[in-house]
Amino acid sequence: MYTSVLVINCGSSSIKYALVSERREDRIFGLAENLGSPEARIKGITTGGEALEISMPNADHEKALEIILERISHHNPQAIGHRVVHGGTLTKAELLTPEIIDRIREATPLAPLHNPAHLVGITATMRLFPELPQVAVFDTAFHQTMPAHAYRYALPKFLYTMHNVRRYGFHGTSHAYVSERGSELAGSFKQGGWLTAHLGNGSSTCAIWNGQSVDTSMGLTPLEGVVMGTRSGDVDPSIHRFLASNLGWDIYKIDKMLNNESGLLGLSDLSNDMRTLIEASEQGNEDATLAIEVFCYRLAKSLAALSCGLPQLNGLFFTGGIGENSAFIREKTVSYLPHFGFNLSKEKNDGLKRGTEGRIDVGNGPQIWVVPTDEEGRIAKETQSVVEQGVSAAVKKSDVVEEAVA
Ligand code: AMP
Repeated sequence: MYTSVLVINCGSSSIKYALVSERREDRIFGLAENLGSPEARIKGITTGGEALEISMPNADHEKALEIILERISHHNPQAIGHRVVHGGTLTKAELLTPEIIDRIREATPLAPLHNPAHLVGITATMRLFPELPQVAVFDTAFHQTMPAHAYRYALPKFLYTMHNVRRYGFHGTSHAYVSERGSELAGSFKQGGWLTAHLGNGSSTCAIWNGQSVDTSMGLTPLEGVVMGTRSGDVDPSIHRFLASNLGWDIYKIDKMLNNESGLLGLSDLSNDMRTLIEASEQGNEDATLAIEVFCYRLAKSLAALSCGLPQLNGLFFTGGIGENSAFIREKTVSYLPHFGFNLSKEKNDGLKRGTEGRIDVGNGPQIWVVPTDEEGRIAKETQSVVEQGVSAAVKKSDVVEEAVA
């Protein structure tokens, strides 16, 4: 029914956009960056595949969105899908109404950097394109199927009941897409037990049973879980008291250190970029070697722990910049899971081309697949389905009214 959906992901000074065609085959995409500064600009790829760069000094989100929409309006987008990091306890994508916007605002204390930026983008697109249906697709929604024993922290009950302190999980759009696509490739669409490892600058793992998330590594915020580019993942929470008492650090300095100065960057003292670390390790840099080792070991530990949520294990999907591109990291991670019966095929693993999907085990144990993620495609699909449901609900309502009048 819909020809194309504009997918928007607003950060505090950037907007990623993608125009996704109905069958999700054609894309126009780009990035507006440095918003609010003299260096504000849009970089992108046109339909003809040419590079595009537009300088727009001091442009804010609204101005950037105006320019983006001007450039793509002849493609006639029929709806806008917004990526929203935190939806609190919302369980699915929602048409943007004043009530849903309030729910996104209420979740701001749980995602203080992300949700305000999304709201700026939502407000701007609603003002600019009041006639287009707009949908919010939440990173947290897919994980709302987790059972209480997976999402509750062992903390005083009132922190959960009165202040919503619980595990939410993130990267839900990616875990949902990859597990759906991967299980389809494996011939058991949305059936059985699967583990996903989304490994990028931010990384997380997820356990999926019959198409539903039953546990995931990220928690109240995206800091919990595995080692990431600059985020520490799990640490002993007493590190806060230790650093405050011994180094006089305040809570903000500690939080910044854990989110921005830790992970691969902190361990290696060199880079948050896995490619740089692999190269440095090959040249004998011991800190880079250790960072890679900690990354893979802790990732394997997380996968092993999450497997407790699955009655049976069909296999493992790798995705994200690292998971899709690094045969070395996949092999090392699987080597830390010796009791699971995984049999990685070195030939298939090493031979998998960049950006392609494929099976990389020898075939006599739990399966191992690489499935490139497609968050924009998934957001477009969910947006399309919410809009279509809204239209069919409206049609049904008018049928009822007509029958009542007749
Ligand atoms: P993402 O956040 O999903 O874009 O992933 C970014 C991460 O993927 C960075 O750490 C990159 O170094 C890593 N990456 C991309 N290509 C490769 C590669 N060929 N080998 C190892 N890491 C890679």
